[in-house]
Amino acid sequence: MERLQNEKVVISHVEGSEEEEPPSQSFLSEEALINSYLQTRAERDKSSLSPRSQEFLRQYFPEATEKDWLNWHWQLKNSVQTIDDLSRFINLSDNEIRPTSGITNSLPVRITPYYLSLIDKNNADQAIRKTMVPVFDEFIVSEGEASDPLSEEHDSPVPNLVHRYPDRVLFLATGYCSAYCRYCTRSHMVAKDKCHLGIKAWEPALKYIEQHTEVRDVLISGGDPLTMPDIHIEYLLTRLRAISHVEIIRIGTKVPVVLPMRITKALVNILKKYHPLFISIHATHPDELTLEMKEACERLANAGIPLGSQTVLLKDLNDSIPVMKKLMQGLLKFRVRPYYLYQCDPILGSAHFRTPVEKGIEIIQGLRGFTSGYAVPHYVIDAPGGGGKIPLLPDYFEGRENNYVLLRNYEGKHFKYPDFSH
Ligand code: SF4
Repeated sequence: MERLQNEKVVISHVEGSEEEEPPSQSFLSEEALINSYLQTRAERDKSSLSPRSQEFLRQYFPEATEKDWLNWHWQLKNSVQTIDDLSRFINLSDNEIRPTSGITNSLPVRITPYYLSLIDKNNADQAIRKTMVPVFDEFIVSEGEASDPLSEEHDSPVPNLVHRYPDRVLFLATGYCSAYCRYCTRSHMVAKDKCHLGIKAWEPALKYIEQHTEVRDVLISGGDPLTMPDIHIEYLLTRLRAISHVEIIRIGTKVPVVLPMRITKALVNILKKYHPLFISIHATHPDELTLEMKEACERLANAGIPLGSQTVLLKDLNDSIPVMKKLMQGLLKFRVRPYYLYQCDPILGSAHFRTPVEKGIEIIQGLRGFTSGYAVPHYVIDAPGGGGKIPLLPDYFEGRENNYVLLRNYEGKHFKYPDFSH
C-alpha cells in the first residue's frame, strides 16, 4: 500500500505508433484521474480503523485512543469477560443469561472490544451475537452429546498432543482464546487451568514428534495459538522446524476474525521464516468480513502463507445457501480459500446449534456449480468417538448402464459418460 502512495502511473505510448504526438488534453486528465484514484485508495487502505470501530471506541472507551484500539494487548485487556460487563454493551434478551441469574457455566465469556463492535446490541438473533453470548439452552444436555465428542483425550499419547491420523498430529499449544465460541468442540479444555500452558509443558509433545518419524505434518491449535506472545510462537516454530521429518506446519486460529490487530508486522516476520506454513482461519458469518479482517489476511497472504478457512455449520446462523455463499465468496476475496465446513460437534448443550446433516449437503449442492469451485468447502462430520473427518457429498453419481456412467449435474440434468474401461 505504501508503494501505491509514491507511485506515479506511467502510461506508455501505443507500440507501433508512426508519429510521436504530444499527449492530448484527455490523455493528461486520464493520467491525473488514475493517480488521484490510486492516491485515494492508498489513503483508504492505510487506515485500519473503520468508521464502525471509531464510533464504538468513542462511545464505549472514550478514554482510549485509536492507537490503543489497534494494540492487541489493549484489546485483550479490555475484553468483556462477564455477563455483567456484557450487559453494559448489549441489551440482553430473555434467553441470554443475565447478570442476575447467578449462573456460571464451564465455558466463560470472552469477547474482544473489536469483535463486540460487530455485534448488534439490540438483535439477539444476530448470527455472531449467538456465537458469543451464552444462552440458557447451553444447559440442556441432549442425547448423543459428550464433553469430548471426538475422544481427543483418548487419542492423546502425551499431554497436549492428539495423534489420530497416520502422518500428522494436533499440537494443543494453549487453552486460551481471544474470544470463546459457544459451540467450541474443545470447550472441555479451552479456558481451563489445565491448559494455560507454558513452554515447558510442550516438552513431552515435542519429544513425541521427534521420536515419531512418520509425523510429517503438525497442526498447532488449542485454544488459539496466535494469542501467545511472539517469543513463544517463535520458540515453538523453531523447535518444530528443527525436526527434519516435519515437512509442513499448520496453525488453526480465529485471531484474524476476532482480533485482527494481532497480525502485526513483527508476528508476520516471524511466521514467514518457517515455511511451508499454512494457516486455517475460523470464520462463521459474512458479518465478520470487515476491512480489519481483510488487512490481517492480506498481511499473512503477502508473507506467502497459504490461507484456508474452516467454518462450523450452525443452525439459524449460517445454515442457508445465500449466507454460506456470501461468506465463502468473501473469504476468497480476502485471499482465504474455503477449506472445511464442519457439521457442529455434539458437545454438551449444543442442540440449539446443530442442523440436520441434510442441511449441510443441501448447502454444498447449492454452491457446487453455482459459484467458483474454489468457494466450495469440504463438508465433513468429525466422527464421534475419534473416527476422524468423514466427507459428505451430494450424490452426482447415479449408477451405470452398460458402458456408460449415469451422472447428474449441478442443475439436476442427467448425462451419460462413456466408460468402456469398466
Ligand atoms: S476460537 Fe476455536 S478453540 Fe477458541 S473457543 Fe472458538 S472454536 Fe474454540
